[in-house]
Amino acid sequence: MLHDAFQAAALLSGLVEAARARRVLRIGAAGACDDAVTVYLPGCNLGCVHCWAGPDREDPVGAAPLWPYATLRERLRRFHRQNRLAAASLRIRLSGGEPILSERFFDLLETMLGLPGRVFVETNGVVLGGHPEWGAWLARLRQRVTLKVSLKAGTAEQFERLTGASREAWESSWTAVQTLLAAGACFDLNALTLAAELFTAAERAALLERLTTIDRRLVDCLEEERLTAYPGTARRMRAAR
Ligand code: SF4
Repeated sequence: MLHDAFQAAALLSGLVEAARARRVLRIGAAGACDDAVTVYLPGCNLGCVHCWAGPDREDPVGAAPLWPYATLRERLRRFHRQNRLAAASLRIRLSGGEPILSERFFDLLETMLGLPGRVFVETNGVVLGGHPEWGAWLARLRQRVTLKVSLKAGTAEQFERLTGASREAWESSWTAVQTLLAAGACFDLNALTLAAELFTAAERAALLERLTTIDRRLVDCLEEERLTAYPGTARRMRAAR
């Protein structure tokens, strides 16, 4: 049965977000965004069959303690000072599960912007698409913030098949793209269009066509990716067979 990704986001927000605090899985550096220091956040409002997240996706409360933002800032400063992983000291990435669940995301973002460097936010765009006014806020931060929007599917049917969420969420992610573009926010796009396990040729073509319909230049912003066999991905793909 399909789930409502907006309701799921609201429920998850109640579990992982609090006043000036957020559940955090860990801080690390994984090579993405040119070796940005990554804050891994637990939980997601989608249930992608290929998801790379760990068991925290299903159990965000048990997997991750609540960190006050003052603690998060201090731990990031300490990570920067010690930095045994040679992470880029001027890049912070919010990833893991879904960072944008509610307006409280902007408190987290403000905390990150209190540190030096650029902030990358990896998002499925679903909640963002439901709040067009956020596009202007993010556009004002374009010198410091890059949104990385992960497009899940070229058709509504494929979206439902891959994410377990109903198609309104798919439409919302496209609205997010349109909103960011119209507002002038800094963003790029990615999709696993080169993963034959997930995309047929027709579904890839449909995704590219949808981008072209919004703005031809968006195709150049799209990073087409193959599937990486992360442990979470392999486990979930096996279970879905
Ligand atoms: S792949 Fe991304 S959007 Fe999909 S369930 Fe995992 S964290 Fe959420």
